[in-house]
Amino acid sequence: MQTIIGKDLNEAKILLQRNEVVGIPTETVYGLAANALNSEAVLKIFTVKERPHFDPLIVHTHAIGEIEKYVSEFPAKARMLLEAFSPGPLTVLLRKKAVIPDLVTSGLDTVAMRIPKQELSLQLLRQLDFPLAAPSANPFGYISPTSAAHVYHQLNGKIPYILDGGSCQVGVESTIVGFENNQVIVYRLGGLSLEDLERVAGTVIVNSISSSNPVSPGLLKSHYAPRTPFRLVTASEAASLNLQKNSAVIGFNEWLPVVPKDQQFLLSEKGNLNEAAKNLFAVMRQLDQMQLDEIVAVEFPEIGLGKAINDRLQRAAAKH
Ligand code: AMP
Ligand code: MG
Repeated sequence: MQTIIGKDLNEAKILLQRNEVVGIPTETVYGLAANALNSEAVLKIFTVKERPHFDPLIVHTHAIGEIEKYVSEFPAKARMLLEAFSPGPLTVLLRKKAVIPDLVTSGLDTVAMRIPKQELSLQLLRQLDFPLAAPSANPFGYISPTSAAHVYHQLNGKIPYILDGGSCQVGVESTIVGFENNQVIVYRLGGLSLEDLERVAGTVIVNSISSSNPVSPGLLKSHYAPRTPFRLVTASEAASLNLQKNSAVIGFNEWLPVVPKDQQFLLSEKGNLNEAAKNLFAVMRQLDQMQLDEIVAVEFPEIGLGKAINDRLQRAAAKH
């Protein structure tokens, strides 16, 4: 199979209607999309991605009114959050209707729903008469793709088409929240900050389960991982870091005086956490291709998107 990269909405639409899998842009990361209502199409996602069936998919639509078609309960707080942050990097877990195949939810009775903030994909979703199930478009466990070229690099020959929407504006996966007894529970930290969530929903509970518990939202302890040995250090450890020659450091905005500058990769020199999130996965990929002996990342401040960045860095380090 030849993989084509392009901006042809009609081509993407025709392929999806034929139950094929297509790479699509979103503001978080690129997705590997298929008709969410068709088990055969959804099965192809798992095969291409080599994703275990216990890891459920996110279903993408273009409007809150669309979400209503696929869920049987709509808690007030879910509606409030969607109204405040959709389209955007927010995924809500809601009780599913039977039209959503069990394969999409890995047998769970909730479905993860999201409205992506990406113009091409929103147009595509508006033109289709079904929603799109899409996990991130990377082989299972590897770093998520934030450009069409990243998707091509890993899935060339496995999917017919990648819709090119440029590089992702947010750069880390969506924040996943569930609802229990009028409480908001955060299952995955992501592109929508806790501060923003709490401004609208009041205090939220952050689910601390981060081991390989299959019923928790795919929060495998080791994920987003480069192949190069990867280590996470605190800012104070970094101050006296003894870095080997063929190694590199990922940091936020401050050069470490103890490390040569050409071995340092800052994600946002001006100190903007949103910009750092946007650059995170591209820099991790770039370094992973340099055949280094080690990548060392320095912990980010635990505010705003810094929390989601630290979460990804911890999971990347967990494999090594
Ligand atoms: P990905 O798009 O590759 O980041 O994967 C989607 C994430 O959403 C995974 O971590 C899933 O485990 C999680 N997820 C999807 N549906 C559900 C659900 N019904 N309950 C809990 N987590 C879910
Ligand atoms: Mg993923």
